Amino acid sequence: MDFGIKGKKAIVCAASKGLGKGCAEALAREGVEVTICARGAETLTATARELAATGVNVKPVVCDVTTEGGRKALLAACPNPDILINNAGGPPPGDFKEFSLDDWRKAVEGNMLTPIALIHATVYGMMQRGFGRIVNITSASIKHPIAALELSNGARLGLTGAVAVLARKAIRDNVTINGILPGPFDTDRLRGTTQKMAEARKVAFAVVDAERKAAVPAGRFGSAEEFGSVVAFLCSAHAGYITGQNLLIDGGGYPGSL
Ligand code: NAP
Repeated sequence: MDFGIKGKKAIVCAASKGLGKGCAEALAREGVEVTICARGAETLTATARELAATGVNVKPVVCDVTTEGGRKALLAACPNPDILINNAGGPPPGDFKEFSLDDWRKAVEGNMLTPIALIHATVYGMMQRGFGRIVNITSASIKHPIAALELSNGARLGLTGAVAVLARKAIRDNVTINGILPGPFDTDRLRGTTQKMAEARKVAFAVVDAERKAAVPAGRFGSAEEFGSVVAFLCSAHAGYITGQNLLIDGGGYPGSL
């Protein structure tokens, strides 16, 4: 299927590896010019080189997207994107009792205010031009709270509520805003948490890895490639009637019927 977005311009945040990179790869395969960012220059440069091999224009921007300066640099590299994929690192795990207000401020800044700022800076131009696709990468934790991830549960749900009305306004101008809620995906982040769990229990990485996979109805973790393909479809010309949705991609992990 031709996604109908060849030649469009995308900003993909936090995309030197993991889910963001999966999105950038899928969009580049569709002929979309991608502006990608991450804090680490080395991995970002290597990813930009890989993406450029598809033949599209790739702009890497080394920045922390959760800062105002970082977002300015990103928007300077791609001032009028047709597609915006919001993503950043997730807040650290912990317990409500131990979190300070500053911990909450950081989580809200990174996972709620940062995507809101980028949406605010880009959505009206998209509406004027009559095409736009915005996808917020959030987490399955907004559908079913995850015990150790209270900072994430709160900040990401805040973002989801904040854009729900805008999503219904912008669609009149062929601009959609949707959330994608990943369950467990095989990325460095997931491997890092598995390693920590294994160390805490003094068991091998493979033991925890197998347990976590067995807990997913699919019997495996998702791949960044399949994640990116779903996001690219939501950004396609064919998905203009889908907005304000929050789509779980979790291998069947959510236990409800609806
Ligand atoms: P990952 O493999 O660790 O990749 C994170 C990417 O984001 C890297 O390219 C990293 O590069 C970049 N990044 C992180 N913080 C950034 C910042 N402040 N500014 C710019 N770039 C930044 O992580 P992932 O698994 O893809 O996760 C992506 C998001 O999805 C996270 O918010 C995570 O909580 C969420 N999520 C993941 C899963 C999962 O199973 N993987 C499930 C649910 C939710 P630098 O470090 O060089 O900046």
